Amino acid sequence: MTNNSQRIGIMGGTFDPIHFGHLVTAEAVRDQFDLDKVIFVPSGNPPHKVKRNITDKRIRYLMTILATVTNPYFEVSAIEIEREGYTYTIDTLKEFKKIYGEETQIFFITGADAILEILTWKNAEDLLKMCNFVAATRPGYAGDSISEKIQYIKRIYDKEIFQVTVPSLAISSTDIRNRVSEGRPIKYLLPESVERYIEKAGLYKRG
Ligand code: ATP
Ligand code: MG
Repeated sequence: MTNNSQRIGIMGGTFDPIHFGHLVTAEAVRDQFDLDKVIFVPSGNPPHKVKRNITDKRIRYLMTILATVTNPYFEVSAIEIEREGYTYTIDTLKEFKKIYGEETQIFFITGADAILEILTWKNAEDLLKMCNFVAATRPGYAGDSISEKIQYIKRIYDKEIFQVTVPSLAISSTDIRNRVSEGRPIKYLLPESVERYIEKAGLYKRG
């Protein structure tokens, strides 16, 4: 489907597992930026996360589907998990531009931590030209290094990075995995369907 006037949010992530931090952020950005939809893009083989054992991409994709079914504005794309080799955001954005048309406005949604690294991503300058970036931060907390980075990008690349504040930024997949492996509760940190699936599939258990 090609519709030139669309505004689309892209939420990329490892989603190992997806949690309410991701979901609340995507919904807040959709609302504030009047987006037609947000597409969640579970990563395939991200070059920066090779250090730890990442859960099979099909399982992360499945959990992302489970987590997003109740929101009619949310979609999940298999674009990265179907790609061979390392996956880079630039390639994904190019594909989305092809699918939705050059006129479509893309809003790439990230946590503020990801903004700090953005200039190290492949073809960073092209990336900044191709889409808008929205960085989620904690309420009342922009973080000096993040503001500095945003100002730097504005100065050097003449590109504004939008900021939104979301209340749930302390939730992380790392913490959820640790909790499971230590037998501590993960209730209220992620959708119940995903919690059940983690239990059923025996994910993140020690050993
Ligand atoms: P991990 O702990 O394994 O790194 P994570 O919780 O950071 O997992 P990712 O899949 O790495 O989740 O993150 C995907 C995107 O979501 C990134 O842009 C990240 O900055 C952002 N993000 C992660 N946690 C939150 C949160 N609680 N609120 C808002 N954005 C988040
Ligand atoms: Mg992370």
